[in-house]
Amino acid sequence: MKAVIIHEHGGPEVLTYQDREAPTPGPDEVLIEIHATSINHIDIWIRKGLPGIRFPLPLIPGCDAAGIVRAAGERVSGLAPGTRVVINPGISCGHCEFCAAGFGSQCDSFTMVGENRDGGYAEFLTVPASIVLPIPDSLTFEEAAAAPLVTLTAWSMMVNKGQLRPGEDVLILGVGAGVGTAALQIAKMTGCRVFAAAGTEAKLDRAHQLGADFLINYAKEDFDKKIRQLTDRRGVDVVVDYIGADTWVKSLRSARKGGRVLTCGATTGFDPRTDLRQIFYRQVQVIGSTMGSHRDFLDAMRCVFRGQIKPVIDRVLPMSEARKGHEAIERREVFGKVILQPRSK
Ligand SMILES: [Zn+2]
Repeated sequence: MKAVIIHEHGGPEVLTYQDREAPTPGPDEVLIEIHATSINHIDIWIRKGLPGIRFPLPLIPGCDAAGIVRAAGERVSGLAPGTRVVINPGISCGHCEFCAAGFGSQCDSFTMVGENRDGGYAEFLTVPASIVLPIPDSLTFEEAAAAPLVTLTAWSMMVNKGQLRPGEDVLILGVGAGVGTAALQIAKMTGCRVFAAAGTEAKLDRAHQLGADFLINYAKEDFDKKIRQLTDRRGVDVVVDYIGADTWVKSLRSARKGGRVLTCGATTGFDPRTDLRQIFYRQVQVIGSTMGSHRDFLDAMRCVFRGQIKPVIDRVLPMSEARKGHEAIERREVFGKVILQPRSK
């Protein structure tokens, strides 16, 4: 099969498009013929390498994958060959104290497709049947591959851990990212007012089309001052910040007294200067989240299947052009997801 493989960490040039033997499913696994995968920011971190973390190189990246079941192991039931499916990228044990409490992404043995084992940048993929979900005919493979990681991440952070409530004011920073477009739609369907921040007018226009109530160009103005002005000095109930270093203190200042700052990433750096006064005097809660439980995945994907959350796709590329996709994301010129098609020539 054709696959994109990372043999060593580095720039987009280390994404190598080459032949690789197709995998065979174990007793509890299915073999999926992949029709679409998508690029997530974590793919870029894995490609570059992270201090203190060993990835199993050579590795096929790609957390998201949608396609058709072609074979199933002897212990798998309910996933017949020919079934159109998508996967939950997170694999947890199902029986440790964290899984038992419903927090699968805190599992002692939590692993990710495309991070700890081969992922979706390939023509075929084997994964445990427990993370595979059939998709309705109304959903294209591209839409299905655009949704899981970012929608699960936003859902678990906002609905499960962030306890989002109707009527709340929500600030979303970097709204053009995949997580941002999902977070915006989740906030709107919950009945919140959305303050969308992005660095270009084009991205803000798209956010407005998705239902954002207030638009803030944070390349041109201080978003924390703008939030105080727009909320009559109160601040917002919830801030969604995966930007990190560039935005952190302003995010704390943008929350109302007792508000929540939710973080699920740090695309501009993970060690920002902080201001603890903003947390204790103003009693702001900082809530961290990564991925989510399988329950979160099923809840979020149900909304995708019903059309209540629409996967936002910036562009579709043949898998052989994965490098172009990574470069576009690193230049921050995309709104929504970049899709890769293993089967387009
Ligand atoms: Zn577990």
